[in-house]
Amino acid sequence: MVLTHNLGFPRIGPQRELKKALEAHWKQQISAEQLLTTADAIRAANWHTQQQAGMDWIPVGDFSLYDHVLDMTVLLGAVPHRFGPVTDEISLELYFAMARGTADQPAMEMTKWFNTNYHYIVPEFDEATVFRLASNRLFQEIAAAQALGITPKPVLLGPLSYLYLGKETTPGFNKLQLLSRLLPAYQEILSSIATLGVQWVQIDEPILALDLDQNWLEGLQTAYHALQHNGCRLLLTTYFGTVEHHLSQLSALPIDGLHLDLCRAPEQLEAFLGQAFANKTLSLGVIDGRNIWRADLSNKLDMLTHAHTVLGNRLWIAPSCSLLHCPVDLTQETQLDQEIRNWLAFSVQKLAEVTILGQGLNAGRASIQSSLTISDQACRARRESSRIHNPVVAQRIQNLNAHDAQRQQSFAFRRPLQQQRFRLPLLPTTSIGSFPQTSEIRQTRAAFKKGRVSHLEYLAAMRAEIQDIITKQEQVGLDVLVHGEPERGDMVEYFGEQLWGYTFTEHGWVQSYGSRCVKPPILYGDVYRPEAMTVEWIKYAQSLTSKPVKGMLTGPVTMLMWSFVRDDQPQADTALQLALAIRDEVSDLERAGIGMIQIDEPAFREGLPLRRSDWAHYLEWAVKAFRIASSGVKDDTQIHTHMCYSEFHDILPAIANLDADVITIETSRSRMELLDAFVEFAYPNEIGPGVYDIHSPRVPNASEMLDLLKKAVRHIDPQHLWVNPDCGLKTRNWSETAAALSKMVDCARTMRNLL
Ligand code: GLN
Ligand code: ZN
Repeated sequence: MVLTHNLGFPRIGPQRELKKALEAHWKQQISAEQLLTTADAIRAANWHTQQQAGMDWIPVGDFSLYDHVLDMTVLLGAVPHRFGPVTDEISLELYFAMARGTADQPAMEMTKWFNTNYHYIVPEFDEATVFRLASNRLFQEIAAAQALGITPKPVLLGPLSYLYLGKETTPGFNKLQLLSRLLPAYQEILSSIATLGVQWVQIDEPILALDLDQNWLEGLQTAYHALQHNGCRLLLTTYFGTVEHHLSQLSALPIDGLHLDLCRAPEQLEAFLGQAFANKTLSLGVIDGRNIWRADLSNKLDMLTHAHTVLGNRLWIAPSCSLLHCPVDLTQETQLDQEIRNWLAFSVQKLAEVTILGQGLNAGRASIQSSLTISDQACRARRESSRIHNPVVAQRIQNLNAHDAQRQQSFAFRRPLQQQRFRLPLLPTTSIGSFPQTSEIRQTRAAFKKGRVSHLEYLAAMRAEIQDIITKQEQVGLDVLVHGEPERGDMVEYFGEQLWGYTFTEHGWVQSYGSRCVKPPILYGDVYRPEAMTVEWIKYAQSLTSKPVKGMLTGPVTMLMWSFVRDDQPQADTALQLALAIRDEVSDLERAGIGMIQIDEPAFREGLPLRRSDWAHYLEWAVKAFRIASSGVKDDTQIHTHMCYSEFHDILPAIANLDADVITIETSRSRMELLDAFVEFAYPNEIGPGVYDIHSPRVPNASEMLDLLKKAVRHIDPQHLWVNPDCGLKTRNWSETAAALSKMVDCARTMRNLL
């Protein structure tokens, strides 16, 4: 028998029940018991759904109140010392303190989970870190599942990945040294699981998709040799990319099974069908856990049939990775266009696909013929749909040439023209784009969408807001203004809604971190811009002031990274289509007299592939997309870009290659350390390192900002330097914002006098 299983199910609940309960609990509207009751109900419902869908093994321990890496920290008792000594069970209060911070302790850091838009809580390690079994929650959940008639397959984050994902809090300390301390705790966990009569444990080692140093690979051997014979069988799960580069290491591990992501890396299958794995179970992740498309079941069945002839009963079938990254249930989408809906599958539907494929192998192709026919028809309909293919777009892509990705003249030539045109003071001050979004603004926008506010009322409300934002910026004394983005709920959604090729769901939420969820738009077809998207707003803002107002656009790479994207053409092609749409908007803004245009690319860095060998290809198409979007302008039009906090050190040549006239970056949290890299690389164009952190409600004091500015002028030619906050101000309130910006402008003036 071929068996089916799942690696993880969305935790948020079909209607984001978990989010609502968490936030109510944090506001003290519901008790801890009430929160836990909701969590129990979601968990039980998830198990039931997976059982109904036909899964033979059901993950337990994949659910989390906040984050599964933090749960591992709790299970292992590795509470950072700064949260005080803890010797007994870790309370819910402490759990949320670590996740969200307290009055006297900042939260543990949060960072992206590999190349997804999920963020995990980063463990903190130093030489004093010890591990002990500090929570019974996992064992209670296993027992609860068994009591409900569920066959559990407990999920653990593996010891190597757990260490790898943490950070060393003392300089010079190597976290890998903790492995020998960590393994006894894992052994204890596994034996406790075994006493519950569990057969298989899923142990996730997603770091295997990365390039790993020799010492980590040695650690892998040490770890899994220590973890064998603990009473349960281990299924080592890998995902998000190929692990073929670690094949010989993997074949030497005393594990019972291995899971491969055959959606991100189908080509690795052959290598794992060889002799080296002859006595292991292979779980093949054939249904895409990272995207929302319905699978081509015939095609998947062919691939599996081939594997089945080699593996026989050693074959398991699963989604490629945890379904955490996928919305819950497509049946909730009643408003979605019927044609497009038929091309999609969310978590519940994906599990049904896994089951059908399992049945196809176990009972023969004929037994699933009707499902195959439906899948074939849907896939053909999608391939051939006129909703997807736009000959106008295809033609334009074909006609692109090298000049389209090139400004007319070099930066050195453009710069004096821009200086002449704008006549800005030294150290010009500006902001990143958005201004505080009051609940009034949000309500008006929502009511307009629902048709409860008329076009005219909406226009008046937004114009009034823009006017107010312009006035406030003039009062503060900024040199380059923005319109404030009041008409945008989200920087990707706003553009997606106006472009052909995008669609939106009602309930397609995916967890981003903790209680935060995002609803990525679905990019299903060729991208086409039927008309201008921002020009009227920016033109209006510019009409109110003699200072330059920056046009504000979202760049092609970010549009791509924060959407569910097509799987029927390379991302590079979709990026080019987006680039053309943005390029047209840039031209329209320029024609309307807007002299500065900012193209935000906060997701540029996060698009980098997991393995370095794939970086060059990504950077090539990503840079090209940005350049296509930004190069259609005259020399005296100033192109800005903005990127949020990220490690740019290793990709600076590509950043410079974007050839934006001005880049604003987030640097205040790193005390301008990032700037060193720009200096070392001799970054040629103008740069605005953020001088204060907008993520905190705290109004920075002037001396801090001035210190940062002093540091900046020591590094960068003041002629090239801009003064701005770290990021958009959307999440702040007006009093904080006005106070912080005034101080920022004062600092810039002080600094000008010092130069
Ligand atoms: N212009 C956007 C804003 O200010 C940029 C957001 C971002 O960098 N994530 O909101
Ligand atoms: Zn930002």
